[in-house]
Amino acid sequence: TIFNFGSINIDHVYSVDHFVRPGETMTSSHYQKILGGKGANQSVALAKAGCDVVHVGAISKQDTHLLAELEAKGVNTEQIATLDLATGHAIIQVNKEAENAIVLFAGANHALSAPQIKQVLANAGENDWVLLQNETNEIDTIITTAKAHGLTVAYNPAPMDKAQVEKHLADIDLLIVNEVEAMDLAGVDNVDAAQASLVAQHPNLQILMTLGAEGVRYLNGKAVTQVAAFNVKAVDTTAAGDTFIGYALAGFTGNLGIESVLKQACAASAICVTREGASTAIPGHEEVSQFLKE
Ligand code: ADP
Repeated sequence: TIFNFGSINIDHVYSVDHFVRPGETMTSSHYQKILGGKGANQSVALAKAGCDVVHVGAISKQDTHLLAELEAKGVNTEQIATLDLATGHAIIQVNKEAENAIVLFAGANHALSAPQIKQVLANAGENDWVLLQNETNEIDTIITTAKAHGLTVAYNPAPMDKAQVEKHLADIDLLIVNEVEAMDLAGVDNVDAAQASLVAQHPNLQILMTLGAEGVRYLNGKAVTQVAAFNVKAVDTTAAGDTFIGYALAGFTGNLGIESVLKQACAASAICVTREGASTAIPGHEEVSQFLKE
């Protein structure tokens, strides 16, 4: 089982002519309401990859339809609290150039409590994993409790908070970062320097560094495994990283070799970037197998 402590958002996406200006009231020509949040997206990807995933988080008690939506995609929602708070949400304007401007409200995503975290992990088995991102509160409690129970911890520190992440690098097993996060964390301005610095400082840490259209590198001490991305026509890269993480982690907890794991995760995220949307763009494992055969 993977316990994913993560955000659940409602993304409100508005198509606009231009971003709204101070004092302006503007009409949008198109509106879509989508389940999002890095946490929820990664849980959906884990479930679609065939993994047993328990999502731990919180939403408004008025939005219980989100639980049904996650369950329909195969995510266990028993540990999602329903509270008297707003569900985390994003107000997203997308202009004609496909740029976006976003207002984010964390709401219930910042209402995780230490007792809830401890109670969830009290029943975890020794082969279970904990996954977390940086979109919830109580990061310290999640990591220290997981380590106290001897669980394997995967941390995707997005959005990056360098001071917060550095505190925990000795306690986690797998760090998952994209290029920008790797460079921010290492305090350098190119990927190779970031890799060298992170590996030198943390020789026991496994690192997955995703490189967008370049693919991914897996660093384990001095060993480096690089897998190229698939050549596809990208139309929307939202949730590419989340899809990658779900499929990679599902592979890590199974018994495939590292190259196969990375290839499968690259295939799943390649399919994701060919589609619009976030959680709705994440493919199922049969589709990923079919893609790899072609
Ligand atoms: P994030 O979305 O977190 O910034 P990346 O951009 O590194 O993450 O993308 C994650 C993974 O998605 C990459 O490792 C790659 O396998 C896949 N991917 C991303 N962009 C493309 C693309 N344009 N073509 C093919 N695969 C892609």
